[in-house]
Amino acid sequence: MGRLRSEGRLKTFYYVIFLLAIFVSIEKRSCYKADTMVSAHSKKAESPWGLKRYEGRVALVTGAASGIGWAVALRLRAEGAHVWLADLGDRAKTACAGEEMMSPLSIDVRDETAVISATVIESSGHIDALVNCAGIVLEGSAQATSLTDWERVLAVNLTGTFLMTRHVLPHMIARRSGAIVNIGSDAALVGQRNQAAYCASKGGVAQLTRAAALDAAPFGVRVNCVCPCFVDTPMLSAWINSSSNPEEARREAAATQPLGRIGSPAEIAAPVAFLCSEEASFVTAVVLPVDGGATAQ
Ligand code: NAD
Repeated sequence: MGRLRSEGRLKTFYYVIFLLAIFVSIEKRSCYKADTMVSAHSKKAESPWGLKRYEGRVALVTGAASGIGWAVALRLRAEGAHVWLADLGDRAKTACAGEEMMSPLSIDVRDETAVISATVIESSGHIDALVNCAGIVLEGSAQATSLTDWERVLAVNLTGTFLMTRHVLPHMIARRSGAIVNIGSDAALVGQRNQAAYCASKGGVAQLTRAAALDAAPFGVRVNCVCPCFVDTPMLSAWINSSSNPEEARREAAATQPLGRIGSPAEIAAPVAFLCSEEASFVTAVVLPVDGGATAQ
C-alpha cells in the first residue's frame, strides 16, 4: 500500500515536471520581442523561433557598420547567411572584426568603380539578398539647402541605392533569383518640415524600388522598400542630441509614433529579413511603412 502511494506520488511529481517544462517552453516562445533581440551596438542576434531562411545564402548590406544596417547584418547571419558588410573606410572591418560569417567591404556607395569591384569581384557576383541601408540626413528647407548639401544627400541616399542596384541586379537576373530591400523612410511617404533634400532622396528611393521591381519581376527577382520612422540608432541620437532639449526631443519623437515609443533597429531588421526571404516570394514593389503607425495619421 505504502509502495503504491509513493509510486503515485512519483507519478504526480513527474507529471508536474512535465507540465512545467511545457509551460516554460511556451513562455520562452511567446516572450519574443524584437527589441530585446539586438540593440544598436549588440554583437549578437538570435534567430527567433529558430528561423533559418538564409542557410547557404549570401547577403550584402550597405551602411552595415551602424544602426539599422548592423541589425540587418546580425539578423541575416543569425538565420544562416554569409553577410558582406559594406561601409565607408574601415568601418565595416572594425564592426565585423572577429565575427564569423561576416566579411567587410570598404565602399563609398557614391563611387561606381568601388561599387563594381566590391559587388562583382569580392563576392564573385553571387548575392542572394542586397539591403541598401547606407544613408545620411541633413536638415534644411528647400530655400535654405545649399546645392552642395542637396547633392550630398541625393548622392548617398538615392544615387548610392541606384548604383548598388545597377550592379547587383544583373547577377540576380542572370541567376533568376534574388531580392533587394531598400531602406526608405517615413520621409518617402509624407512631407517633413525642414528636410527637403532628405524627403526628395527617400521619395526617390521608393519610386526607384517600384520601377526596378517591375523591370526585375519577369526574371523572378524582387525589389521592396521598408520605411522606418524614428529608430534608435546613432543617426537618431545625433539628431536628438543636436536639439536644444534632447530629452524633450526624444519624448516628442516617441509620441509621434502611435505605438508611443521609438523603434529598435531589430524591429526594422525583422521585416527586411522576411522581404529578402523565400517566404516573401510573391511580394514585390512594396513600399512598407514600419513606423509604429506614424504615417497612418
Ligand atoms: P546610421 O548613421 O546609424 O548608419 C548609417 C550607415 O551608413 C553608417 O554606418 C555610415 O557610415 C553609412 N554610410 C553613410 N554614407 C555612406 C556612403 N557614402 N557609403 C557607404 N556607407 C555610408 O543610420 P541608421 O539610422 O542606421 O540609418 C540607416 C538607414 O535608415 C538610412 O538610410 C536612414 O536614412 C534610414 N532611416 C533611419 C531612421 C532612424 O530613425 N534611424 C528613420 C528612417 C530611415
